[in-house]
Amino acid sequence: MQAKPKILVIGSANMDMVIQSDHFPVPGETIIGGEFSLVPGGKGANQAVAAARLGGDVCFITRLGNDIFGSQNLLNYQKEGIDTSHIQQIPNVPSGVALITVDKSGENTIILAPGANSQLSPYDIIASQQKFEEADLILLQLEVPIETVCAAAELAKKLDKKVVLNPAPALGLPDSLYENLFLVTPNETEAEYLTGIAVKDEKSAKKAARYFLEKGVKEIIITLGAKGAYLYTSDFKGILPTVKVQTKDTTAAGDTFNGGLAVALGNSLPLKDAVKFAMKAATLSVQRMGAQTSIPFLHELPMT
Ligand code: ADP
Repeated sequence: MQAKPKILVIGSANMDMVIQSDHFPVPGETIIGGEFSLVPGGKGANQAVAAARLGGDVCFITRLGNDIFGSQNLLNYQKEGIDTSHIQQIPNVPSGVALITVDKSGENTIILAPGANSQLSPYDIIASQQKFEEADLILLQLEVPIETVCAAAELAKKLDKKVVLNPAPALGLPDSLYENLFLVTPNETEAEYLTGIAVKDEKSAKKAARYFLEKGVKEIIITLGAKGAYLYTSDFKGILPTVKVQTKDTTAAGDTFNGGLAVALGNSLPLKDAVKFAMKAATLSVQRMGAQTSIPFLHELPMT
């Protein structure tokens, strides 16, 4: 790959509180879990960190609380070499927090309190126009207000910049957003939520992808967990399988995938090659615990 592409990530920042457990509690049940850890997370932050570790020159725009989690997160992004010049800590608002449980098979459940993430406004987008102008690619998710996501996609389109939307968590989207997107990257659940088509195999994945295409999105990638990813892109249509590995924790697999994808696309790789690069990184992340703790660095990726 060539010199560092400039990736602008706009999205959420959280502190993840993770407890490992044999199984998930059912409503009304209290169970004794295993190890507890406090890990910086949030889809926006995870994808920003992934893009930075995987070779991007990253600017991250988010809102933090003026509390210990916010300060710790800010410091953490600076250590990752991320441009934090457009991050603000909002007084009297808590930082976003996620309560995560991970069972012994590596599956997770997550409950999120958005806190300061809900303060990122369309106005903040307009105020960051210069960062949009400098960016090679803009990466968005859905953990900040939808009107902010729409404003970011609109501004990017106006400036003729490519926007990748990872539509997570699943949330209804206005039609006007789709037209401003270069690429969407839902997982199977999000694809079903958005299209109404259950993604079970290649045929149904193609049907779901065509829904996005008809809405005006140019390129579509549906991630399929351990099965890899389905591409409905200008250079490839079909499933790209991933390698089978011992899964420890799938938290941030999609975030690692999206961060890696953004860097590869920022480097002008064809979509098929960009997905292969993203999957290599995601494969490493599922073999490690936690969100940002599991995201690999470029030098850790296998060469082939
Ligand atoms: P999300 O984490 O957003 O739910 P997926 O589960 O589809 O998204 O995972 C995103 C990518 O991470 C997949 O396309 C794949 O490359 C990788 N991945 C996820 N789970 C596994 C797994 N169990 N084994 C290997 N790779 C995985």
